[in-house]
Amino acid sequence: MTDKELLSIAIKEMEKSYSPYSNCKVGAALLCKNGRVFTGANIENAAFSPTICAERVAIFKAVNEGERDFLKIAVVGEKDGNVNGIFAPCGVCRQVLREFCDDNFQIVLGESENDFKVVTLKDLLPYSFSPENVR
Ligand SMILES: [Zn+2]
Repeated sequence: MTDKELLSIAIKEMEKSYSPYSNCKVGAALLCKNGRVFTGANIENAAFSPTICAERVAIFKAVNEGERDFLKIAVVGEKDGNVNGIFAPCGVCRQVLREFCDDNFQIVLGESENDFKVVTLKDLLPYSFSPENVR
C-alpha cells in the first residue's frame, strides 16, 4: 500500500469524527506489517479528559484485534471543515506509538493525497522512554 493510499483512507476516516467542541476532525489509518489497516477518528467528550485522538483509536482497535506489528500510520486533520496544515500526533499518541513501534516507524502527515510528508517516530519523539527502559 502506498503512502497516498493510506492517507486517502485517513482522509475518509475524518467523516467519523465526533468533535462538537473543537470542530477539529482527525482521521488516522494504521498499516500493520501483515497488510491489515485499522482506522480511527477522534472522539471528544464534554468532560474533555475522556477525549481520545484518532491515532489512539486506531492503535487500540488494532491491539485489541491481536495486532502489534505496525508499519506506518497516516494522520490528517481539519478545523471547521478546512484542511490547513498538518495535524501531527500529540505527545500522548507519540508515547503510545512508541510502546509498539521502534524509532524508524513512519508517520505520514498529510494535507491531501498529493501534499504530505513522511517522518519517523524518532523525529517526533527523540530520546523516547520505551518498553526497553523497564524490561
Ligand atoms: Zn493524540
